[in-house]
Amino acid sequence: MADPRGFLRTRDRELPESRPVPLRLQDWREVHEHRVGDSPYLTRQAGRCMDCGIPFCHQGCPLGNLIPEWNDLVWRGQWEEAIERLHATNNFPEFTGRICPAPCENSCVLGINQPPVTIKNIEVSIIDEAWERGLVHPVVPDRLTDSTVAVVGSGPAGLAVAQQLTRAGHTVVVFEKDDAIGGLLRYGVPDFKLEKAHIDRRVAQMEAEGTRFRTGVTVGEDPTWDELRARFDAVVIAIGASLPRSLRVEGRALPGVVNAMTYLSQSNAVVAGRTVADQITATDKDVIIIGGGDTGSDCLGTALRQGARSVTTLAIGYQPPVERPQDQPWPT
Ligand SMILES: Cc1cc2nc3c(=O)[nH]c(=O)nc-3n(C[C@H](O)[C@H](O)[C@H](O)COP(=O)(O)OP(=O)(O)OC[C@H]3O[C@@H](n4cnc5c(N)ncnc54)[C@H](O)[C@@H]3O)c2cc1C
Ligand code: SF4
Repeated sequence: MADPRGFLRTRDRELPESRPVPLRLQDWREVHEHRVGDSPYLTRQAGRCMDCGIPFCHQGCPLGNLIPEWNDLVWRGQWEEAIERLHATNNFPEFTGRICPAPCENSCVLGINQPPVTIKNIEVSIIDEAWERGLVHPVVPDRLTDSTVAVVGSGPAGLAVAQQLTRAGHTVVVFEKDDAIGGLLRYGVPDFKLEKAHIDRRVAQMEAEGTRFRTGVTVGEDPTWDELRARFDAVVIAIGASLPRSLRVEGRALPGVVNAMTYLSQSNAVVAGRTVADQITATDKDVIIIGGGDTGSDCLGTALRQGARSVTTLAIGYQPPVERPQDQPWPT
């Protein structure tokens, strides 16, 4: 356990400041400052972890991240060991540490009567610090198997499976129909949530490990699925879910009503320096966003940065409370 009295001494969450709104509306850089290194408050926050006998944070994390272990290592300033434990369950903590909704924090036992440990910020601090200190290296397999694998789709699922299979010694080729690797991380999530340099750095590490990437290849057209199956020992399908769900309401077909991903992918491409003919942009427009989830909020941030005159979000549910409501005590 990091600090036996840490959770008694520090009862509040401490997080790095977000960049001021007027400043961040001027650019596409990330909203949150992340890298905090050996800052006293990071140590304090890691020290709040109680190393619970039954760590409910594990139950909350879909990856099974070993959260109390790396909290302890951060508190001790052992960054090399911390990144080793974080990478043990998570190929890309720089992605999850930025954009995962962090169900681990809702599950943290401290939530019984305190705000939870700042698990997500500790996670992203470990990986950012590890890159900064040169602790992230290509992991090249000791020997190659004779097996070849095609991974179709280069979103986080395809990338994670490709990295694991390459490290196991298989010869892995990732096929991607877009012009760049990353899936929705590249062309869905805007830069103000995840700057694309994080993807490029990982892809470079994976290339150094031996994973091969082919962009601009739509499997099912050229090559066909049968051709791919004939050429590789195994095929992994990680093509995501790119079909939008339409609304059957009057006016759906009017001009100016567009799907979020059409709008966002164009914006991300332009932010990356590409030219998009007839780009849909919110500049000087009154914008209505239907849906208040991650995608809706990404449209909101994008429209504001493009200089929309006004933006209104319509959501079907009730506005959730900012704090855990009284009638939903931990762990509900
Ligand atoms: C706007 C938006 C914001 C989001 N924000 C968040 C967030 O903040 N936090 C969070 O946790 N999740 C978020 N998500 C969800 C998250 O992005 C997805 O859950 C995740 O990307 C799914 O990963 P994947 O690898 O399964 O698929 P994808 O990321 O969709 O990748 C699939 C890839 O397969 C490629 N492909 C498809 N068919 C073929 C083919 N035939 N041949 C070759 N390539 C093909 C596609 O081009 C794509 O690159 C967001 C999603 C969107 C749309
Ligand atoms: S539930 Fe919270 S306090 Fe307990 S081990 Fe996990 S992070 Fe630490």
